[in-house]
Amino acid sequence: MTAHLKKAELHCHIEGAAPPELALRQARKYGIDTSNIIRDKAYVWEDFTSFVRCYDAVASLFRTEGDYALLAEAYLTELAEAGTIYSEIIVSPDHGNTIGLGADAYIEGLAAGMEAAKARTGIESRMLITGIRHLGPESVISTAEYAAMRRHPLVTGFNLAGEERMHSVAEFARAFDIVRDAGLGLTIHAGELSGAFSVRDALDHVRPARISHGVRAIDDAGLVKRLADEGVVLEVCPGSNISLKVFPDFASHPLRPLYDAGVRVTLNSDDPPFFHTSLVQEYEIAAHVMGFDDSEIDRMTRTAIESAFVDEPTRERLLSALHV
Ligand SMILES: [Zn+2]
Repeated sequence: MTAHLKKAELHCHIEGAAPPELALRQARKYGIDTSNIIRDKAYVWEDFTSFVRCYDAVASLFRTEGDYALLAEAYLTELAEAGTIYSEIIVSPDHGNTIGLGADAYIEGLAAGMEAAKARTGIESRMLITGIRHLGPESVISTAEYAAMRRHPLVTGFNLAGEERMHSVAEFARAFDIVRDAGLGLTIHAGELSGAFSVRDALDHVRPARISHGVRAIDDAGLVKRLADEGVVLEVCPGSNISLKVFPDFASHPLRPLYDAGVRVTLNSDDPPFFHTSLVQEYEIAAHVMGFDDSEIDRMTRTAIESAFVDEPTRERLLSALHV
């Protein structure tokens, strides 16, 4: 068991983290029938198309500032109860605008939930604003400009998510320049649904401190060495990768070879209940399926804190909490 280990997470999309019980309560509140997306307190989907449909249906159950506060508080409290001391959630102000709530109220709602969870459990958390890749470079530039305004102190980073096979990374370089100049931490989804080349493109055009996934780098030995040499951190999400068939099974997942090659890797859950996983389960799989011992798992948690998008006093405090 990994229950005794402290945990940290850098990569989780907040709408994708909604516990099914909370989604059911929200559905009752709004009188929505969820029988086609939630069965036996689990989300139901078969392929990428029905995954997206299910994801959007669950996201649509969160409509107000208060709903987003509930969502963040529920997820972070669940993490804290499993020994998690730090969490970064990926948030989409574009989604806040799409549902008519507005970006500011969406961020404020999430922040209220984060603060409530911290008051209750002590868990530290931050928000990473994400651009949506398939909406195109112009949309991502405007999201970057919004992020650069730093409307809330808990917003400390920027990510790029969405359909990885659309547009080249170079087209988003300007958006990343805007958020880099604003002092936000940078990470980008690459090397998940697209191959090693997308990780190389991300390093060349975005120069991020971290890469979301990046696991397909394993196909290119030179690139693995570059990641290790440059100390770029990979936010690895094994359960998500197996669920989306990026790799056929955990035995062929590259977390272990990347770790052994000296790449700085971390454990993350991505969209946990959609992939029938949780951060705890990712730690369990690392320990019992991939054969990492406690000290190796602690090293991954330490890497997450070392590469967290927080101020230095917070980082020091979190690092010392790892030993308590
Ligand atoms: Zn992701």
